[in-house]
Amino acid sequence: MRTDYSVIERIERIAAAYPERTAFKSRAGEMSYRQLWERSQQIASALSDRLARDERPVMVYGHKSPWMAAAFLGCVRAGRAYCPVDVSMPESRIRDIAARIGNPLIIATEPLALAGYEITTPKQLMQEGSGRCEDRSLWQRDEDTFYIIFTSGSTGKPKGVEISARSLQNFLTWSRGLIAEALPGGESTGVFINQAPFSFDLSVFDLYSCLTSGGTLISLDKELQGDTAAMFAFLREGGARIWVSTPSFADMCLADPAFCGDNFAALKLFLFCGERLSKETAAALMERFPQARVVNTYGPTESTVAVTAVTITEEMLRTDEALPVGRVREGSEIFFDGEEMIIAGDTVAKGYFKDRQKTAAAFFETELKDGQKTRAYRTGDSGYCRDGYYYCTGRIDLQVKLHGYRIELGDIESNLLEIPHVQQACVVPRYDGERIRNLVSFVKAPEMDGTFRDGRFLRELLKEKLPKYMIPKNIIFIDEMPMTVNGKLDRKKLEGMLA
Ligand code: AMP
Repeated sequence: MRTDYSVIERIERIAAAYPERTAFKSRAGEMSYRQLWERSQQIASALSDRLARDERPVMVYGHKSPWMAAAFLGCVRAGRAYCPVDVSMPESRIRDIAARIGNPLIIATEPLALAGYEITTPKQLMQEGSGRCEDRSLWQRDEDTFYIIFTSGSTGKPKGVEISARSLQNFLTWSRGLIAEALPGGESTGVFINQAPFSFDLSVFDLYSCLTSGGTLISLDKELQGDTAAMFAFLREGGARIWVSTPSFADMCLADPAFCGDNFAALKLFLFCGERLSKETAAALMERFPQARVVNTYGPTESTVAVTAVTITEEMLRTDEALPVGRVREGSEIFFDGEEMIIAGDTVAKGYFKDRQKTAAAFFETELKDGQKTRAYRTGDSGYCRDGYYYCTGRIDLQVKLHGYRIELGDIESNLLEIPHVQQACVVPRYDGERIRNLVSFVKAPEMDGTFRDGRFLRELLKEKLPKYMIPKNIIFIDEMPMTVNGKLDRKKLEGMLA
């Protein structure tokens, strides 16, 4: 197929060519390409009838139902960006995001109550859809925003990364090529695994690489992910071929000896992104799945999922160095400002939704080597490049990855500081070797007793504002925060206190 079809056009062509093929399967149900295409059209039609002719994005709330994909497509076919929000998000954050998005209509596939908003299901919308001839000129294309994904923000409020239809299309041209190159016999698609919630951009990797190549997506809900035996059965039965997850999730699976090539003969490719891939994880997978390739990829949400990739080799495992994140894709360039990695090119986000200040701080205009003007993003990652391979060495700020989730420590601290009696708060990672095991918060609150119950009380209050994965495992009350000679909070000293 031509490479210049838009994302929506490609899905349309695939739905026409393979209407009965399963597009999406989870424990919540299945949808064929024909159903996905027709249902999303009816959703688009209802959205166009209902909403005034403005361009406000639509929040799509839920988890792993196939109706999520139908709703996403419905939005972009009605000329609107969608903003996926997972059920793991607490109500106060959802309200925050909904207010920022500014649309009184929310589509939800799971129960949601949010005063002041009209919440509707994709099925309801579908029934309303008049089914009249579709206005294709409405489809999101080029610089139109396709989706907005909110990530943790250092000041306590999440920020919405705005990805254009063009950036997504550019990313997918590369990701499909990467997959075709890695699969045996020049195959270019198959059964994909979806692990990440749709509110994380890692899910874009599997969802759209799959739907724009005619694959079948097997989506794993969080309950299933907690029951390894049932999950393995589901994956085997589905004939999973292309694995997309965080390395943390693969580690969890590796803990079970049943996770091996003999039991998963169809698995041919592991695609990782979102956090450091350790040599141990890569080596264990290569040993247990001799028939599969292990590919490390790297990139922030702000540059559409990933911009580098590399197939891990035995030779790389033997060096003293950490694994590379790979070579940069065509269309992107990575350069350095001091140690900081800067990504420029045709997948860099438009910016943060309705936040000029944060956008100006992280994004800028630059020129590629060939003189072409493009957007660039300051990643906050430190790294270096050798022989064309990029290596990530850490962060220059206070962003961490815990079990694959992107967290700004400042986000947790700001939310702690909003609680009465909390005067100072500092959240630090507790390490297990090189990996972060959990987060610990030091808190100065002289009016509290600092008992275990007080700690639990603060954690309960935090749970109302932050998703569970962001809640510190322990809260330690402290009389005075240690300071550096420059008068800054001495985070290293606090980290050292946990060792
Ligand atoms: P997210 O926006 O959630 O995808 O997180 C992006 C951040 O995750 C990057 O800026 C890196 O800090 C980290 N990251 C992503 N992929 C990798 C990788 N392969 N190796 C090391 N760190 C990574």
